[in-house]
Amino acid sequence: MAETFRMIIDGRAVDARSGETAEVRNPANVDEVVGTVPKGDREDVRAAIRAAVAALEGSWWPRVYESRRRGKVLQRFAALVEAHKDRLARLLTREQGKIYRESVGELDSLINTFDYYAGYAGKIAGEVKYLRDNDSIIKVETRKQPIGLCAAILPFNFPVSLYAWKVAPALIAGNAVLIKPASTTPLTDIALTALLQEAGVPPGIASIVTGPASTVGDEILRHPAVKRIAFTGSTEVGRLVAQAASPALKHVTLELGGSDPTVVADDADLELATDTIVRFGRFRNAGQSCTSVKRVYVFAAVYERFVDLLAAKTAALRVGDGLDPQTDMGPLNNAQQREDVERFVADALARRATVVVGGQRLTEGPYARGYFFQPTVITDLPDDAALWREECFGPVLPVMPVRDLEEALGRANSTSYGLGAGLWSRSDSTIERFIEGIESGIVWINYKPLSVPETPFGGVKDSGHGRELGAEGLAEYLETKSIRKYVGKA
Ligand code: NAD
Repeated sequence: MAETFRMIIDGRAVDARSGETAEVRNPANVDEVVGTVPKGDREDVRAAIRAAVAALEGSWWPRVYESRRRGKVLQRFAALVEAHKDRLARLLTREQGKIYRESVGELDSLINTFDYYAGYAGKIAGEVKYLRDNDSIIKVETRKQPIGLCAAILPFNFPVSLYAWKVAPALIAGNAVLIKPASTTPLTDIALTALLQEAGVPPGIASIVTGPASTVGDEILRHPAVKRIAFTGSTEVGRLVAQAASPALKHVTLELGGSDPTVVADDADLELATDTIVRFGRFRNAGQSCTSVKRVYVFAAVYERFVDLLAAKTAALRVGDGLDPQTDMGPLNNAQQREDVERFVADALARRATVVVGGQRLTEGPYARGYFFQPTVITDLPDDAALWREECFGPVLPVMPVRDLEEALGRANSTSYGLGAGLWSRSDSTIERFIEGIESGIVWINYKPLSVPETPFGGVKDSGHGRELGAEGLAEYLETKSIRKYVGKA
C-alpha cells in the first residue's frame, strides 16, 4: 500500500503549495508505488527558508551556550531511530533497492554519527588569551559560532548515512538545515526529519523539501539566506553547484564521483581480499557506492588465482528483492542507472574484453519488473576502455594484471578522480609506498571501504573538496569570530 508522505516545513508536515505530488516506486518491482511525495517548488523552498531564518533569530537553538541542550536532542533522535529501525530499514530497501542488511547498516551508521556528534555537546570551544598592546591589556578571543542556514543536497545511493554526515554536525554546531533528498529516495529522509521534530528540534530548524532539482535544488543553491551547501552527488552536478553558489560566496563542500582503484600485491591474502571485494567492495548496494572497488590491478604472479577466486565468489551471489533474506544484491535504483551500466559493458565488449561472469540485465520471472543486473567481472580490457577512465555506478568490476607496485600506482592514478583507494599486501614497505603515492582522499589497507564518523571523509581531484565527518567535518559548520576586548591599563 502506497503511503502518503509530506514535506516538513516549520515543524509541520505539509503538502506542496501547488498540491502536486510524485510517486516513488520500488526498483525491485516498479508496479509497487511505495509512497507519494509532494512535488515542491521554489515557493515551498522559500517558506522553509523563512521558517529557518525566524527560528535562528527567535529560538534557543543557535545560542553558543546551548550545545549541551542540542546534544540531548541529537541523543533523543538517535534513540528514536533505534526504536524505529526495522520500519525505516524496510522503507529504505523498498525505495532504494539495497538489501535489508545494508539498510540496517545505513541506519546504524546514522545512529553512530549522531551519537558521535552529540559527544561534542559542551565541547565546542574557542580560545581566550590575554595580551599586552603597549600600555593596554587586551583579551583576545576566538569564538566558534554557527554559520546559519545550511543546505544538505543528497544523492540516491546512501540517503540515510549521508543525511547523518551533513545534518548531525550542522545541528550540534547550532545551525538550521534544509534537506533536499534525491527524487527517487525521499521517503526515509522524510521519516527521519519527522523524528527530528519529535526529538525536540525547534520548528523551522530542520526542514525537508521534495521536488525537482531544476526548481527546488536551484532555489536552494541561489537563495542568499542559505549560507552553506553540503552537496553529495555526481561531479557533473557538483560543478553546477559550485558555479551557482559562487556569486554569494557560499561555503560549499563537494563530495563527488569516484573510480576507486584497488591494488592486490603478490603477498596478499587472496581469499580475504576476494571475499571482501565481493561482499563489501564492488557489489554492495548493487555497485552504487561512491567509495568502492571499481577497478582492480593485480600483480601478475597471482593474477590467475585471483581472477578464479573472484569469479567463483561473484557467480555465487544471489540477486533479488532486497527484502528477501537470501538476497546478496538487489536491483539498481532506477532505469537510467541500469542503462549506464549496460553502456560500460557494451563498450568493453566492443573492445574484445572477456566477460568472466555476468554481463547482462536480468529480465525473467521475479526479475521482470525490476532494474536487475548480473554481478559482472571483466578481464582483457584495453587501456582506453570507459571502465578504466570513468565512474561506473553499478555491479561491474574490471581486473588487470600489473608488473609491480609502480605500474599499479601509475594506472591507479590515471583517472581524474581521487576519492578512495585500496591495497592488499602484507609488506610494510609496499603499504607505505602505496599510501604515499596514491592520489586519493581515503585509503584502505587490507580492509573494506569503511567510513566511520571518527575520521574525515572526502576526495581530491575531480572527487571534490572539503571534508565530512570527524572534527574537520564539524569545523565546516562553524564560523570563527575573532574578538579583541580592552581590559585595562598595564
Ligand atoms: P546527482 O548529482 O544526479 O544528484 C545528487 C543530488 O543533487 C540529488 O538530490 C539531485 O536532485 C540534486 N541535483 C541535481 N541537479 C541539481 C541542480 N542543478 N541543482 C541542485 N541540485 C541538483 O547524483 P546521484 O545520481 O543522485 O548520485 C550518484 C553520484 O553521487 C555518483 O557520482 C557518486 O559517486 C556520487 N556520490 C559521491 C559520494 C561522496 O561522498 N563522494 C557519496 C555518494 C555518492
